[in-house]
Amino acid sequence: MALASFQYLFSCILLFALLSDAHPSPFEFLKNLQGSQKGDKPQGLNQLKQYLSKFGYINSNIHNPNVQSLESEDNINNDHIFDDALESAIRTYQLNYHLKATGILDAKTVASMMLPRCGVSDIINGHSRMRAARKRTHHHHHRTVSHYKFFSGSPKWPASKTNLTFVFENNTPAEAATAISRAFEKWASATHFTFTRIENNISALCNTTADITIGFHSRDHGDGFPFDGPYGVLGHASPPTRGSLHLDADEPWSIGPMEGHIDMETVALHEIGHLLGLEHSSVEGAIMYPSVSDGMTKDLHGDDVQGIKELYHTV
Ligand code: ZN
Ligand code: CA
Repeated sequence: MALASFQYLFSCILLFALLSDAHPSPFEFLKNLQGSQKGDKPQGLNQLKQYLSKFGYINSNIHNPNVQSLESEDNINNDHIFDDALESAIRTYQLNYHLKATGILDAKTVASMMLPRCGVSDIINGHSRMRAARKRTHHHHHRTVSHYKFFSGSPKWPASKTNLTFVFENNTPAEAATAISRAFEKWASATHFTFTRIENNISALCNTTADITIGFHSRDHGDGFPFDGPYGVLGHASPPTRGSLHLDADEPWSIGPMEGHIDMETVALHEIGHLLGLEHSSVEGAIMYPSVSDGMTKDLHGDDVQGIKELYHTV
């Protein structure tokens, strides 16, 4: 009897260990780089550069073949060196996330970078981060977002368009659709927008296109921004008026707070903010803050609502 329960306990511990090992964050590599600073050549540094490039902190010319920049050639050649560009990128990240702007990949910076987050870049405007920084040499700290932000060019829905329709792609689980619909209702109650759900079959039958399409996708899903398995990037959405919202099908999603899981409604609230025209906010309590912790739920914040009111002149 004692042996049996010991074996049971043991197998439970083993199962737990297997489960937690089965889902390492794609941002796990950051742990090995903790403490790195200018001049260092740690293994896996190119992954850090890719991370910072993905979220807008290092200029990448992948989507911009016409921009000629010696800097980016340096980046490619010196992928393994912690160079000036990387130090500057980390400092900008630290300013955005209210961390001490040391340019060193310290423990707090690693902890912040490892949190699950939105796939939308933190810095979008400007083709070259370096050029933008040079323009603002005397006001370097202006790069810090102090509150809500809009996309470059402030794209928004036309003034006449206050009711937006949304549709879920076929593979969307019913509970997910319910949670995401609740997120739309929250935005409706705080702004001048209303949202109407269209059933997928009706949409197809009547050949109507909804303003917003929501779907769950895994890994590479054809839009050039592949998802990354559990944790890491949770979802992304387009600025107005494209109306595309994708969530990572591989997340351990939950409805409500649950340790180790990601609250669906919280992430949906964030991504809808993008659909309406908000970019990332550095206000930690704002729904438009880029990252969330597992087991955490968030609601709309005054900063988010102010942002929409200013964008649509409904203050
Ligand atoms: Zn986002
Ligand atoms: Ca993910």
